[in-house]
Amino acid sequence: MTKTHTITLIRGDGIGPEISEAVLHVLEATRAPLSFEEAVVGRAAEKAEGEPLPEKVLDAIRRNRVALKGPVGTPIGKGFASVNVRLRQALGLYANLRPVRNLPSIESRFRNVDLVVVRENTEDLYSGLEHVVVPGVVESLKIITEAASTRIARYAFDYARQNRRRRVTAIHKANIMKLSDGLFLDCFRRVAEAYPDIQADDRIVDAACMRLVMNPESFDILLLENLYGDIVSDLAAGLVGGLGLVPGANLGPEAAIFEAVHGTAPDIAGQDKANPTAMLLSAVLMLRHLELPLAADRVEAALASTLAAGIKTPDVGGTAGTRAFARAIGERLS
Ligand code: NAD
Repeated sequence: MTKTHTITLIRGDGIGPEISEAVLHVLEATRAPLSFEEAVVGRAAEKAEGEPLPEKVLDAIRRNRVALKGPVGTPIGKGFASVNVRLRQALGLYANLRPVRNLPSIESRFRNVDLVVVRENTEDLYSGLEHVVVPGVVESLKIITEAASTRIARYAFDYARQNRRRRVTAIHKANIMKLSDGLFLDCFRRVAEAYPDIQADDRIVDAACMRLVMNPESFDILLLENLYGDIVSDLAAGLVGGLGLVPGANLGPEAAIFEAVHGTAPDIAGQDKANPTAMLLSAVLMLRHLELPLAADRVEAALASTLAAGIKTPDVGGTAGTRAFARAIGERLS
């Protein structure tokens, strides 16, 4: 008998519930052996349970080992710490993988973009260590460790080998942050020696951004610390048609959470306008992680055929609503 995989499902905030519904509709049409256990985090959980990231949610993800997640809002400049960051830190999901490539039938500024952002997910300025030194002066601590930098560099090179990629480019600001980014770069170079079959080079983050918007085709795997990785991911999404398209995976030894790069998109929430593609492609990464490659291939083919038929959401120049778009993909699977 085929094993059914139980997945923790976090629908999230803003457009999260709409795109989650769309993705569930498509996954159901694949008849892949999946069942979903729902969990609530963020503002809704804080209201109901007094805690935006209840321990039982962490326990559920540890038990199921796989979660599919919509975006979760974080109050700006006040309120609770980001649930997204806390989830990654609490579960040791140290590698954030974000493949950025052109999709068929989607117009964008560039063709032939096929790069992978590998972002360190647990430390850097995201350690949340900030304090007021004296009124009017604050300090944020950027934590970079040899252990985490080495681990993420190994992940990037292993990924390159397993996925027939040629080159890993470390992106940093070690000319200014000589100790922290210097350590990240040293670890990268040391790890690179063990992978003579994969090219290794590095670029300073500002110059890398310029090159990304001039010649994105020239990049293969980009390895970045947490903050640069976050910023460069959104930039890279813009190269291939926008945030509605780029998926992601947060991976660690004990669990994996699959989620889009984008946030809750409050400006279009509840309007049936959101593009579920990024979350759907995150689910495709999840299907591959669960070793269900046929279902993954079928979803990708159904998505390509839907886009080729001109059925698209408004962010990529179409007129289809979130629900109609998902229905069109589902029809191609049943
Ligand atoms: P955002 O990614 O939510 O939106 C940026 C722009 O992209 C908006 O114009 C939005 O309409 C558009 N967009 C994003 N996803 C789209 C989609 N699927 N289809 C069509 N258009 C889409 O970024 P933001 O507005 O800076 O952040 C909003 C909230 O999301 C914040 O609270 C932030 O903390 C949170 N956030 C969460 C995550 C996560 O859950 N992993 C990631 C990023 C931001």
